[in-house]
Amino acid sequence: MTRQVIMALAGNPNAGKTTLFNQLTGARQHVGNYPGITVDHKEGLLEHQGTRITITDLPGTYSMTAYSAEELVARDYLISNRPEVVINIVDASNLERNLYLTCQFLELGVPLVIALNMVDVARDRGIEIKADKLADLLGVPVVPIIARSGFGKDKLIDEALAVAARKQSWQPRDISYGDDLDAAIAALVPKIEATHFVDGLYPPRYIALKYLENDEQILAKGKDTDPATAAELEAIVNSVCEHTTKTLDVYPEAIIADHRYGFIKSIIRQGVVTHKFDTDRLYTSDRIDQVLTNRLIGPVIMLAILFGVYQFTFSWSELPVALLEDFFGWLSAATETILPDGRLKSLVISGIIGGVGGVLGFVPLIMFMFFAIAILEDSGYLARVAYMMDRVFRIFGLHGSSVMPFIVSGGIAGGCAVPGVMATRTLRSPKERMATLLTVPFMNCGAKMPVLALLIGAFFSDNKAQYMFLFTMLAWIVALLAARLLRSTVLRGAPTPFVMELPPYRFPTMRGLLIHTWERTWQYIKKAGTVILGISILLWAMMTFPQLPAERLAGYEAMRQNIASGYDETIVAEQAQERTVLSAAATDLAGQLQEINKREAEEALRHSLAGRIGIAVETVSHLAGFDWRTNIALIGGFAAKEVIISTLGTAYSMGEVNTDQTESLGERLKKDSNWNRVVAVAALVFIMFYAPCFVTVICIAREASWRWALFSIGFNTVFAFILAVLVFQIGSFFHLG
Ligand code: GDP
Ligand code: MG
Repeated sequence: MTRQVIMALAGNPNAGKTTLFNQLTGARQHVGNYPGITVDHKEGLLEHQGTRITITDLPGTYSMTAYSAEELVARDYLISNRPEVVINIVDASNLERNLYLTCQFLELGVPLVIALNMVDVARDRGIEIKADKLADLLGVPVVPIIARSGFGKDKLIDEALAVAARKQSWQPRDISYGDDLDAAIAALVPKIEATHFVDGLYPPRYIALKYLENDEQILAKGKDTDPATAAELEAIVNSVCEHTTKTLDVYPEAIIADHRYGFIKSIIRQGVVTHKFDTDRLYTSDRIDQVLTNRLIGPVIMLAILFGVYQFTFSWSELPVALLEDFFGWLSAATETILPDGRLKSLVISGIIGGVGGVLGFVPLIMFMFFAIAILEDSGYLARVAYMMDRVFRIFGLHGSSVMPFIVSGGIAGGCAVPGVMATRTLRSPKERMATLLTVPFMNCGAKMPVLALLIGAFFSDNKAQYMFLFTMLAWIVALLAARLLRSTVLRGAPTPFVMELPPYRFPTMRGLLIHTWERTWQYIKKAGTVILGISILLWAMMTFPQLPAERLAGYEAMRQNIASGYDETIVAEQAQERTVLSAAATDLAGQLQEINKREAEEALRHSLAGRIGIAVETVSHLAGFDWRTNIALIGGFAAKEVIISTLGTAYSMGEVNTDQTESLGERLKKDSNWNRVVAVAALVFIMFYAPCFVTVICIAREASWRWALFSIGFNTVFAFILAVLVFQIGSFFHLG
């Protein structure tokens, strides 16, 4: 009977896993999904000198914590399937980072063989790795291979089979994590051993580490299976955590990572790696970087590129945005004639078309913006932006890892603070993390973009790209200053070091760009069709009810009758004459009727729930130049910033029944006596910096605490209001409106 062996293939993304897997198994493989999630599950068959081998290709991961679905899948597979040997594929040209995962396999104790891949690439770069020495130091076989050509694969399988044949039980490696954590581990392990905590499947020390790393999956498992022991373990962890954050300003997680890198460095330094070329040889990417990330011209180029993005977005989207605006104008005009007067008509025109149409009108703009950003992202330039910004960030008490959350939240416009807040998880120092988390909502997210575009388009139509650029810069400056303020008051503490790896430049593919653009644009459209539609209707109802009392309505009706009957004779006379030319009297009649209608509509809006709130707030908001209608919109913006546009649209179309329905909101605001350039800037400043939207607040509460979430609502709103008042008062003083 032939021998059966089960192997697993694991490694970092891009280490060459798929290439090796295909080399080994050829066409004999099966691809599926892991149950319940969309992570690839690949299995292949291989015959090697009379042994049948089943190989499972695990998802590519950088570590073995519970940060992503891939990591969980890889870990769960190893724990529950116990493969006889794990082939850990390691990129020789990037040894240090790849060994981070290796280090975690050693700690787990799985039977391991290292496939040292891409030795050809490493050789080209002048990197020589002594495989024997590495094998000695790690205590596992290391086989140099070139997955692309198949070089070394037979030797690799021989070694793997030899390890599997030993049938040894898992042998976890102990790494020291410094005095604080080692003491904690020593306290945790006996408790874990005594109770066979979490099924007894994981090595006890490994569970202790996961508790210190705050691994959500293991923590949950512990609570489920043995709440009493779990509580004891958590108490120990909490006290260490408190201690390290107080003394070192880091979570235990960060200390663990640092020690793992220390362990790897100590191995590599013992003559494992030699560089043949004295100076770093330059590759194309590096050469490009010499210019693009140059200390002096790099930032200049960065600003120019950023400005180019706005220029592109605005010039290309101008026509489609105008066409969409016309379309929605036509739609409300058509509805105006089709539907009978009444609530339904008001709901459809003011609530739905005015609200959702206003948001959807900006789809082309959003699309072009996302396209430009996809180019920056896919080409690898965005990583350079992060790299350059790191130098600036330190000055403001933030960390290099804060850059990505800022960019994700809309640092280049069009992001979202929700993933931005979640991206702060990569920050290991609690204070830097909190400062980042609280200031990312200041960035110009995709929802603020249409508001910016609307007001800039209406009041600064000659220099749209310039103003957009200016407001982006303003967002950065204010966010950084706010971070500095937080870091020197409530979040005082020392900075932590940062190293960043730059991916090579790539030519983006059209397919990739289109997919990226479409995913984000679709998200925006979906939001307009669901959340925004709902809030829009709710706000319409608040702006409609309670209705004016019957006697007020009757009063207006009487006034209309009065005027009409007074002019009756003239009208008859007029109509007999030329129909197209209106006499002074008739115009006056129409004008007066319109005036009455307008007054009635305005009184109705003031009488409504939303109107009352808006008016109540006006006592304060007039300091920043906001009238009660603007207040209604700003309050709606607490739910989602897009709602500001839809609510302004509703408020300004409701207050002016019978005016030209095809007029766009921008034109309406421009004509309104309460609005001018100074008010527009004050409103923009307020909108950019006031309370984060509802979803972001919930996210902050989840990532930090409700106290910080409430803090961010209060702090941001007060901060934004002060700025808006300053803008309005100074601007008005110099008559800039
Ligand atoms: P995975 O993400 O780990 O599955 O990595 P892939 O197998 O997709 O490999 C990533 C890239 O590295 C591909 O372009 C491969 O052709 C290339 N590659 C893989 N192994 C080698 C190697 O040994 N030498 C060279 N030069 N390229 C390799
Ligand atoms: Mg792959």
